[in-house]
Amino acid sequence: MSDVVRYERRGPVALVTMNRPEYRNAQNSAMTYALDEAFTRAVDDAEVKVIVLAGAGKHFSAGHDIGTPGRDVDKSFENKAVLWWDHVDKEGGDQRFARESEVYLGMCRRWREIPKPTIASVQGACIAGALMLAWVCDMIVASDDAFFADPVVRMGIPGVEYFAHPWVLGPRAAKEVLFTGERFSAQQAKEWGMLNRIVPRADLETETLALAEKIAEMPRFGLALTKKAVNQAEDLMGMRSGMDSAFGLHHLAHAHNAEVGGDSLAGQNARSMRDANKAS
Ligand code: ZN
Repeated sequence: MSDVVRYERRGPVALVTMNRPEYRNAQNSAMTYALDEAFTRAVDDAEVKVIVLAGAGKHFSAGHDIGTPGRDVDKSFENKAVLWWDHVDKEGGDQRFARESEVYLGMCRRWREIPKPTIASVQGACIAGALMLAWVCDMIVASDDAFFADPVVRMGIPGVEYFAHPWVLGPRAAKEVLFTGERFSAQQAKEWGMLNRIVPRADLETETLALAEKIAEMPRFGLALTKKAVNQAEDLMGMRSGMDSAFGLHHLAHAHNAEVGGDSLAGQNARSMRDANKAS
């Protein structure tokens, strides 16, 4: 297991921890594939009933890696989520669509279908691409210091790739979050129905594990079928097809940025996004 993700067994619970605290757990592809390996291990281990996803350090995750020294967008990994060609030797929209179909939308969908209950344990920042990681989990427990935002409209992009916003927040709150790009608190997220529980920061791990252990008392197959039933209902509410159409608009935005400015992120990077967020 790569050191960018830690894997621990705590009784019936697999604790999977993103481990790049020096970069606020910014998610590069190395981390994506290490997470996938960890989840696969948890699915294959008959002793594991529930999976907890956490982030090491002060923050759950700052989102996709758009500026650390470990940024690896030009690196090849063996596709796991979609049957598509590798992005590395392609150009323009061909490259972006291949990469984001695999490492963002495809991986998130793959993890949403993990046949064991998953719980995100969120503290500090949970920004943009990090929302995708929390949202694919079945439940979210957040500490009282957690904050959330999807500020990518500042890049001219209509939300992150896994476009669950209208389903997890409701349409009106989704628009507020996207239109303003502003941070919202754990309390606000809970009022909008995005969170299951808010706990004191010091109790986050114990409270999340306690919830996981409670769920672990249920039969494995029953949990898997129940998860599937709820996920299917969510898809019948249009989530899957809605996300597919939003993904097309997302790539129109990337292509537009590249066409008019030469950069698919509209010249923004991690620092400029953070500064704009602070100023707002
Ligand atoms: Zn994108």
